[in-house]
Amino acid sequence: MNRRTGTVRELEETKLAEPETGTITDPQRIQGYHAHIYYDPGTRLLAERVRQGIAAGFEARVGNWHDEPVGPHPVSMYQIAFAVSEFPRLVPWLMLNRQGLDILVHPMTGDPYEDHSKYAMWLGKPLPLRLDGLRRARG
Ligand code: ZN
Repeated sequence: MNRRTGTVRELEETKLAEPETGTITDPQRIQGYHAHIYYDPGTRLLAERVRQGIAAGFEARVGNWHDEPVGPHPVSMYQIAFAVSEFPRLVPWLMLNRQGLDILVHPMTGDPYEDHSKYAMWLGKPLPLRLDGLRRARG
């Protein structure tokens, strides 16, 4: 299967999220956060600048470069993992310094499907994620 095709289908899948039930969820469920910094060959240097700023200024685990799409992520990205306590410093820094890149910030609640869909927060433009794999993993 060519992983770069199927954009329209992926968009539809993103929209087919389960309907809201009105349930209130306790934020204590959040064990930490990821920020996924998306880039392409033309913005890789900007992504490098963001990466250096994060590595220099924050308590965060900076993941490997993924030039090829991986998991639910449709384009190149690297991942930043950080603790709940770092959110109020790191996320505002990303707001001001994202260099025009699209960034997904999502909580880690133990449900990767919901973390990447209904709990997701986007800086810049939301990208259509490939959620079908996460939905299957959920069982
Ligand atoms: Zn993640």
